[in-house]
Amino acid sequence: MRTITLKQEMYLWAKQVKTAGHSIGFVPTMGFLHEGHLALVEEAKRDNDYVIMSIFVNPLQFGQGEDYTTYPRDEKRDKKLAEEAGVDILFMPSVDDMYKHKKSIKLMVTEKTDKLCGATRPGHFDGVVTVLTKLFHLTTPNRAYFGLKDVQQFAIVTALVEEFDFPVEIVPVDTVREPSGLAISSRNVKLTREDKQKAPALFNSLLLGKKLIIEGETDANVIIKTVRHYLDQQLGENVEVDYVEILTFPYLEDLSEVNGKVVIAVAVRFFTARLIDNIIVD
Ligand code: AMP
Repeated sequence: MRTITLKQEMYLWAKQVKTAGHSIGFVPTMGFLHEGHLALVEEAKRDNDYVIMSIFVNPLQFGQGEDYTTYPRDEKRDKKLAEEAGVDILFMPSVDDMYKHKKSIKLMVTEKTDKLCGATRPGHFDGVVTVLTKLFHLTTPNRAYFGLKDVQQFAIVTALVEEFDFPVEIVPVDTVREPSGLAISSRNVKLTREDKQKAPALFNSLLLGKKLIIEGETDANVIIKTVRHYLDQQLGENVEVDYVEILTFPYLEDLSEVNGKVVIAVAVRFFTARLIDNIIVD
């Protein structure tokens, strides 16, 4: 595995590989790697000749008071895991190299941001599409891999490439979970032991919502109320439920009657970390 830190070097490598007729799979991450990230690499390796993984904690997608400075980082461990997973190029640009130019143009997401995480994280998805636009240009992938755990990110990136004609296929990958059902996340290490024990309630609440739908419940409000009640009960007073929502999948439109493919999504604010999870029900 080769580690590249300079934008210019990344672009030249990708250009060479593409000119030689090879395909590139791209896995963008913020590092502190875990099995979820490695599942994306596995899919990327299956479909492409070369795999580029980027590790970049993107300051633009963190709001004021969010955890940019305390986001977990471990470069040495990440390099080892990426290499073992078969990544060909680990792209680790500096913030300075990525954002050294004066900001005279701003990318802004104008739809799908009033719901889920967009509602409480203003500007977050503007930061996501900005960094991905740059990373797509630098790595020129044939395919890019995104986890469905971040379902709103997947929907917005899909819109980005459709609306701006990026020649890249966006490939969704199922959420990887711990045996308890807890969705694996870099932020899980920030949980206290007590909160870690409570955290599987997120997935269990989603399974409860799914069960209601399978049993024939179609009123979105009833499902949302039941899921929220379950979360409130399981998590106790010191944990805040940010949202429970049901939307159409993959377009994330509001609905009152459940019909067709939907996603039930939850976000929960523990004292030391905010966790999200979702389930897609057909
Ligand atoms: P992050 O480093 O958290 O920005 O995540 C990088 C990529 O890994 C995103 O596409 C995430 O959706 C994906 N990802 C994170 N956690 C998981 C997981 N548990 N299962 C599958 N994909 C994941």
